[in-house]
Amino acid sequence: MSRIALVTGASRGIGRAIALRLAREGCRVWANYSGSKEAAEGLCAEIESAGGSARPAQFNVADGEATALAIETLIDEEGGPDVVVSNAGITRDGLMAMMSGDDWSSVINTNLGGFFHVVKPCLRPMLRKRAGRIIGISSLSGEAGNAGQVNYAASKAGLIGACKALAKEIASRNVTVNVVAPGFIETDMVKDLPKDELEKLVPLKRFGKPEEVAAAVSFLASEEAAYITGHVLSVNGGMYM
Ligand code: NAP
Repeated sequence: MSRIALVTGASRGIGRAIALRLAREGCRVWANYSGSKEAAEGLCAEIESAGGSARPAQFNVADGEATALAIETLIDEEGGPDVVVSNAGITRDGLMAMMSGDDWSSVINTNLGGFFHVVKPCLRPMLRKRAGRIIGISSLSGEAGNAGQVNYAASKAGLIGACKALAKEIASRNVTVNVVAPGFIETDMVKDLPKDELEKLVPLKRFGKPEEVAAAVSFLASEEAAYITGHVLSVNGGMYM
């Protein structure tokens, strides 16, 4: 039986690349999105036409009740999941002195709250099965900090702490919890940044591709990574060592 992978924020960018990669490796994908219905349906159609298996799953990861209900319904219908990738994320950048309470809380609730809301309902089936892979998508900002991103850096550093703590909680049940921390990756999220300037700061002198993040996720989700838990794998062209 193929493994089931839940990927949040799968309609675009990094999440989409992760969904395609895991599907190519034989996982049935639950492709979560919040608003981009057409894009999520298009992704699932693409996976199916390549011989894979996927279904779109609409829920807003910042909404704990809606997320729990949607995931519990999926689990009731299909069992699983075997792999959970908490990828959905947003930015609301600005200097802290100018940052609104809403800019703070929406980023924390989506990026960090989303991890809690998504992973919690998946734990019982994983612990019962004594197998599973949980992967959080953090950020260079969460590892190194970044001016203008106090909210985002807090959410992404918090995600690293949450993953390490959860890794220790559930290691005895053979469920691993790891983090992938991307640097600048070519997606909608960075489309307004001054790419030419920023590329000069990257030791490898370019932005990364979503597929390069997906490769790291794929490894951590694989059998080969069975003895790795609580690890932060940076995929950042050498920006933070
Ligand atoms: P993106 O292109 O902006 O895509 C974001 C995805 O998240 C979309 O599929 C979006 O779906 C979904 N999403 C947003 N809010 C959601 C919510 N409340 N509930 C469910 N889904 C939601 O971003 P990306 O660059 O691929 O980033 C993916 C992850 O990587 C994020 O966690 C981001 O922080 C992290 N990251 C990105 C970079 C980078 O340089 N791109 C660097 C480091 C870390 P809808 O359109 O349906 O809302």
